[in-house]
Amino acid sequence: MQIIDSLKDFRQLRPSLSNRPVGFVPTMGALHEGHLALVRQCKQECPTTIVSIFVNPLQFGPKEDLQSYPRPIEQDITLLKNEGVDLLFMPKKEDIYPAGFSTHINEERFSNGLCGEFRPGHFQGVTTVVCKLFNIVRPHIAYFGQKDLQQFKVIEKMLADLNMAIRLSMVATVREKDGLAMSSRNVYLNPIDRRLAANLYKALIMLKENAENGERSAITLAGLSKSWLEKNSPFHVQYLELRHIDDWTPVETLPVPSSNRKVVVAIAAYLGKTRLIDNIII
Ligand code: AMP
Repeated sequence: MQIIDSLKDFRQLRPSLSNRPVGFVPTMGALHEGHLALVRQCKQECPTTIVSIFVNPLQFGPKEDLQSYPRPIEQDITLLKNEGVDLLFMPKKEDIYPAGFSTHINEERFSNGLCGEFRPGHFQGVTTVVCKLFNIVRPHIAYFGQKDLQQFKVIEKMLADLNMAIRLSMVATVREKDGLAMSSRNVYLNPIDRRLAANLYKALIMLKENAENGERSAITLAGLSKSWLEKNSPFHVQYLELRHIDDWTPVETLPVPSSNRKVVVAIAAYLGKTRLIDNIII
């Protein structure tokens, strides 16, 4: 695995990569099985697999965990080598945001609501860095996780709106045995909270079951799951919302199955100081 840690070196190397599909997996490091699932799918589909690790300051709010975000770089390198990744790109902050940087990308439909509401500026940070990474890496296919479904939709829309000819592939959420979605932030949880954290996914499954049992009102479905979750664990729910995946409009009544419209049920909740997100598609 080649490791490149500067923009200059990457630029020099890029023309030598074959013109066959180059697959790209952008990450912020602290890698786990969720990231590795993206890498494996990329390896299966693309002759060249490039992974980037860049903790993007632009997508963290002023009170968020940029400083404490885990950075186990040696461990990450070993994991990626074991997967047979061709190239690891770890740009420096100054490579991506040189002094005087003053251009940002705003997607204005799918960034609305959910994490967009509670993390102002977050998706602007994501689209800006992803666009830059795409321009540098010039992949044919890029891999993202369903874990961050809103992020996927925002990036998909950016590509369409800006005529960027890159194919996106969404990889299913990888979960721990008890259902908790894998996340680099799970290391913040103490052992008690770690056990309770599985309730987040259970609340989503409960909502799905209530829908299958005939409840169609989004407000009722969300209310039932939210109160179950907050009653059974010290979670503080930030949002639990249902959105149509195609146009991101809020769901009031679940669409009839024959409409083929998919709905995402998305949740963000605090367990102590740790903010966890998850979603399912119904
Ligand atoms: P991050 O390092 O958190 O920016 O995540 C990098 C990529 O990995 C994103 O596309 C995430 O959606 C994806 N990802 C993170 N956790 C998981 C998971 N548990 N399952 C699948 N993909 C994931």
